[in-house]
Amino acid sequence: MASQPLQVAGVAVSPDHYIDGQRVASASRFALHSPIDQRLLGEVAEGEPAHVEAAIAAAERAFPAWAALTAAERQPYLDRFADEIGRRAEAFCLLESNDAGVLLSRMQHGVVPRAMQNIRWFAAHALGLQDRPIDTEQAHHRVRHDPAGVVVVITPWNAPLMLSTWKLGPALAAGNTCILKPPEWAPLTCSLLADAAHAAGLPPGVFNVVQGAGATTGAQLVADPRIARVSFTGSVPTAKRIAQAAGANLVPCSLELGGKSPFIVLEDADIDAAAATGALMYRNAGQVCLAGTRFLVHQRVGDRFVAAMRATVERLQVGDPREPSTEVGPIIHPRQVERVLGYIDRAVAGGAQLLWGGKPHPFGAQYVQPTMLTGLQQSDEIVQNEVFGPVLTLQTFAGDDEAVALANGTDYGLGGVCYGETTHATAVADRVRTGFIWINSFGIRDLAAPFGGIKRSGIGREGGDWSFEFFCDVKDVVVPK
Ligand code: NAD
Repeated sequence: MASQPLQVAGVAVSPDHYIDGQRVASASRFALHSPIDQRLLGEVAEGEPAHVEAAIAAAERAFPAWAALTAAERQPYLDRFADEIGRRAEAFCLLESNDAGVLLSRMQHGVVPRAMQNIRWFAAHALGLQDRPIDTEQAHHRVRHDPAGVVVVITPWNAPLMLSTWKLGPALAAGNTCILKPPEWAPLTCSLLADAAHAAGLPPGVFNVVQGAGATTGAQLVADPRIARVSFTGSVPTAKRIAQAAGANLVPCSLELGGKSPFIVLEDADIDAAAATGALMYRNAGQVCLAGTRFLVHQRVGDRFVAAMRATVERLQVGDPREPSTEVGPIIHPRQVERVLGYIDRAVAGGAQLLWGGKPHPFGAQYVQPTMLTGLQQSDEIVQNEVFGPVLTLQTFAGDDEAVALANGTDYGLGGVCYGETTHATAVADRVRTGFIWINSFGIRDLAAPFGGIKRSGIGREGGDWSFEFFCDVKDVVVPK
């Protein structure tokens, strides 16, 4: 039996799981609070072992029929799924702004259109995957991309709707059936996704949502031998646990993890442009995996850069993410606020200097001032560890070799930014060991391009054909000539 929907910012949203095409309530629930003002948003279903079992069984039952469809036959279902997301656009925006603290303006102009595109684009792209031929003198090869089976999708709280659809789009388009385990600190847009899938007429069991904690519900899902793939975005410690559990069954995992990306400013950079982009790193209160959080600035332009960025940062509007003028919103959870402030305090106690910020922001309990620290050693924890808050570091360098050494001097390797004369910046960027890097820009993404990190930032690539290589069993059917 389904529970009464929660009412969040005037939007009705189910607190239940969605299994086999139906809402399933749970006797155990967990409380959900808004990061904006700590108000109770409601209680959400906690996954019990029987719910995980039911979701896996439903996804297994639905698999043969969904997998038997051609990509062209699946496309109308997925197009309708995207349409149904669009019909609920305002509700998605309000829910994620209230439960994750994401800027409402960002939801409206960035996240919801991208969520629709994630579903629609991969459904269209899957059409090109059918039966790729390779002809040799000896034989005719037909390379098939067969769906792998039941896929588990696990996403973090900083971008639940965007990241869930980014994985579900290709997984479903390839013919897999899916179980989504939403982040327990921001589960509401994932629940609404189930309404959109239901309204789109996705057959029961093709898409399931099991709410709950990572350590219990998530852990049970990824350890199940019936699972064909685990697609995970989140932190390094969780990824290690997931890789171990899935590895016990030799189940392939795609792991998109944290970052400590360099933001390099060369001597020949446009300093004002670099500073303006630099201030964007405080977006989503710094809770963005791909943000350039370590500023590496040529020593001859260090003072000019700091002055230009300070002027931009002073104008940043910190506040309620639902207000159109707000540029920096809250931090997701009191535990995360404590963690972020702890990093700042330990850095300052260790001799770092604050260029700006460094304190809780007076706007509210879960707000921290945009902060910049300098006077650091490469081995300092704040240079090495992902803070995941509005906290940046600044180091200077004397030449390209030193910039590259500092850029590569952490265990992470997700992304990067490099400002400078284009040929020069490109030459430096080529030497930086990350999964992607932006020259004189930030955040340009295309669904066809690969996305992912190296070193501790992850295993595998998502995007375009890379998503399908992961979600499919590639099979070569060989007929001799
Ligand atoms: P997290 O690792 O704590 O949790 C992520 C998800 O994993 C949640 O849904 C959680 O419930 C689940 N989980 C936790 N333990 C589990 C277990 N044992 N088994 C299965 N599932 C489990 O991460 P978070 O704090 O929610 O998110 C922040 C992290 O995500 C940061 O490190 C950030 O850099 C990273 N991130 C990476 C990308 C990327 O694309 N590379 C994008 C966004 C966020």
